[in-house]
Amino acid sequence: MQNVPTGLFTGGKWRPAASGAVFDVEDPSAARSLCTVADAGADDALDALRAAADAQQAWAAHPPRERGEILRRAYELIHARIDDLALLMTLEMGKPLAEARGEVAYAAEFFRWFAEEAVRIDGGYAVSADGKDRLVVMRRPVGPALLVTPWNFPLAMGTRKIGPAVAAGCTMVIKPAEQTPLSMLMLAQIMSEAGLPDGVLNVITTSRPGEVVEPLLRDGRIRKLSFTGSTQVGKLLIEQSAQQVLKVSLELGGNAPFIVCEDADLDLAVEGAMQAKMRNMGEACTAANRLYVHESVAGEFARRLAERMGSLVVGRGTEPGVDVGPLIDEAGRTKVRELVGEAVAGGAKALVGGEPVPGDGYFYAPTVLVDVPADARMMHEEIFGPVAPIIEFSDEDEAVAAANATEYGLVSYLFTENLRRAFRLSERLDTGMVGLNKGVVSNPAAPFGGVKQSGLGREGGRVGIDEFLETRYLAMPLS
Ligand code: NAP
Repeated sequence: MQNVPTGLFTGGKWRPAASGAVFDVEDPSAARSLCTVADAGADDALDALRAAADAQQAWAAHPPRERGEILRRAYELIHARIDDLALLMTLEMGKPLAEARGEVAYAAEFFRWFAEEAVRIDGGYAVSADGKDRLVVMRRPVGPALLVTPWNFPLAMGTRKIGPAVAAGCTMVIKPAEQTPLSMLMLAQIMSEAGLPDGVLNVITTSRPGEVVEPLLRDGRIRKLSFTGSTQVGKLLIEQSAQQVLKVSLELGGNAPFIVCEDADLDLAVEGAMQAKMRNMGEACTAANRLYVHESVAGEFARRLAERMGSLVVGRGTEPGVDVGPLIDEAGRTKVRELVGEAVAGGAKALVGGEPVPGDGYFYAPTVLVDVPADARMMHEEIFGPVAPIIEFSDEDEAVAAANATEYGLVSYLFTENLRRAFRLSERLDTGMVGLNKGVVSNPAAPFGGVKQSGLGREGGRVGIDEFLETRYLAMPLS
């Protein structure tokens, strides 16, 4: 773990927590400590905020082209260090190296995208209806932002926020997840090397997120919260953001339905299910959580999926040939074990898997369940593990009603070869995104986000930068 920063990054300097406290970062494939990092308290967080607030005015005035060029340089530097970043991510999070490399490349794309958007922040000009006034509309950075990210995509969930914040001219304090702080700390080092001025990006690592985040949200200098994580914590942060009426964007939990119609291309559907289910070992907000398959093809689909799932190699992400790494911790694995246990007690059958993998680390076997009861808890909660429950349906209305019967609305997947059905069902699915004959929707050029309790606002795409801008208008009479 040489050369990996482990301190707090505030005002362009690395330093320990004021209290000197540290906490352990664990390798989930071995259930042992990798290293320790600084454990910030509220005073450290306010120090980071001071640095961000002090830097805000100058950063907002920084030429957009230069803001874009810093992002572009950071994009190049990430690629130059892709192997180091991927290894670090695999060690702290568990995903296999090939997936970690994929995430690093995906994370970098947000910088390339927003490097290009930095110079396209425009406004408007209009003549008032009575002809007397001129109305000039301008976009301004919203101000210092607090960015809070989860452990499942340690880098990409950060760059999806840092990219637009930098491009828009916002300074920021970022709090990565306790379980995966190292990728973000290395990114801070890269941003600094790319020429980001001191104080624009500040990183606070902590084992006490509530104690550190709440004072920041209640301090009038933060003007924006961008959070990715669970719906439960998101709701709490909305309440805390209400005190200062912050601009809030939230990427929260999901419970994605995956619908396979009778006219689907089954090869494509099985491939899509493998991606939608097994990306990140099932630990993704976009993970297919409920697979609804038409009764005429359900048996064949389940057989083929079970064959593919059964052939996956489970092991340490650093080992060659491994497809599936460990879950993040024992609590995550216990939840998966309980959900599967309850479903099986209710009548579900495991075609493959169904058990944790014995030994060190938090491994769980890739699992396909059939005959899952509609009221099983796993149909209503995020499984966050490599478990695919299959439920049969007999007509379109039944599939749509079941798919929409959740408080979540992040993404749905639909497999059909019929164009009219594709449009008809896509319009009826209550989700912010639909994967049509495709098991991965994430794309830096697309507006990522959910409806209902899956979130507010969008990240990526043309609209991603709007979350970090506010609109001001100037009224000017001609005489
Ligand atoms: P989480 O427990 O909500 O944690 C997310 C972040 O919030 C972490 O940095 C965490 O810090 C922090 N946090 C926890 N309690 C807090 C509090 N009381 N006050 C302030 N901050 C607090 O979620 P997670 O388990 O890390 O991530 C999994 C969840 O994220 C899933 O629900 C998943 O669906 C969702 N997710 C959504 C998207 C999306 O784009 N919609 C993407 C990825 C993940 P600690 O690490 O110290 O607990």
